[in-house]
Amino acid sequence: MSSEPYDVVVAGAGTAGMLTAALVAGRGHRVLLLERDPCPGVLPGGVVRQRSTAVNVVIEGERVAGLRHLPEGAPARTARARCVVDASGGDSLLRRHVAGARGSSGLAVYACFRADTGRAEGPRRFPFGNGWFWTAPAGDGLTQVGAVVRPDLADRVRADPEGALSGFAEACPPVRDLLTGAARAAGGPGRVRVRPHWSYTDHRLWRRGMLLVGDAACAVGAQSLPSLGTHLACRGAGLAARALDGFLRGTADEAEAFAEFERRYREAYDSVLRDGILPDECLPHGGTFPPPGLSAGAARAGVSR
Ligand SMILES: Cc1cc2nc3c(=O)[nH]c(=O)nc-3n(C[C@H](O)[C@H](O)[C@H](O)COP(=O)(O)OP(=O)(O)OC[C@H]3O[C@@H](n4cnc5c(N)ncnc54)[C@H](O)[C@@H]3O)c2cc1C
Repeated sequence: MSSEPYDVVVAGAGTAGMLTAALVAGRGHRVLLLERDPCPGVLPGGVVRQRSTAVNVVIEGERVAGLRHLPEGAPARTARARCVVDASGGDSLLRRHVAGARGSSGLAVYACFRADTGRAEGPRRFPFGNGWFWTAPAGDGLTQVGAVVRPDLADRVRADPEGALSGFAEACPPVRDLLTGAARAAGGPGRVRVRPHWSYTDHRLWRRGMLLVGDAACAVGAQSLPSLGTHLACRGAGLAARALDGFLRGTADEAEAFAEFERRYREAYDSVLRDGILPDECLPHGGTFPPPGLSAGAARAGVSR
């Protein structure tokens, strides 16, 4: 087992991880960025290991002290660091070390279709018996169509995502009409995907030695205006970089700096939910919100438990 000393090791090179790593490295700290998929291998001032999957955190006493990671085709390694940032997205396996188990406020199943919407339209939402659908322009003549449904339908959805999506569409007349004669897009955009936890925030966003950023920490649902997910991830990255810089330089107490990170990140999340959600009066069919089966608090506040 090898050991590598870093100030910060970041798991995940999506929007949140890439920006956090760049901002922290730009302030002169030693950063390691791990990404399980191929990604741009350059991080000014830092080290990028692509095709390397973070599999667990290293815990020493009360602190997280590093990450175990699995480079493709090589033995597992340990990257020791003064702080770990989990930016590995909505399906993070690491976040449980900070926030515990997260209940699901819903399950999204979606794909892109070459559907004729008749005119250029923004995101729209359509309630139906099991939850609600959204449709949104996805560029290149494609329309993204997805259903957010109750967590208790997870087994059915995961067993047959394509069948579930078309079954839900049949139960929602506006979507059924939209998809009549429409083909799924070719390649990746047409693949039917399933994502849990559509709109949520974890109940803790830090512990000693570890922060959650981006979709690992919180996400806004498909009823939000476009770009807010990325905006929120960037905001979290900026707040994390500021907290980490203070802690690493010794100008701020770790607990105070990280608690301030969490407080301001939650403010940003709340303001996105408050101001960035499409109001019901803009939605067709006078849709009820939340959909049946989701508690008002969970759906509106995005808190999953
Ligand atoms: C269908 C869909 C549509 C969306 N549309 C919009 C939109 O129109 N506008 C908008 O602003 N937002 C949108 N979002 C949300 C937006 O994509 C995210 O909020 C934003 O990208 C946050 O990114 P992130 O970096 O936290 O996570 P991600 O972008 O998911 O990045 C996580 C990264 O971590 C890597 N990773 C995962 N596990 C590991 C591991 N164990 N070890 C190493 N690496 C790992 C992944 O490969 C990935 O590169 C959409 C999301 C979805 C699912």
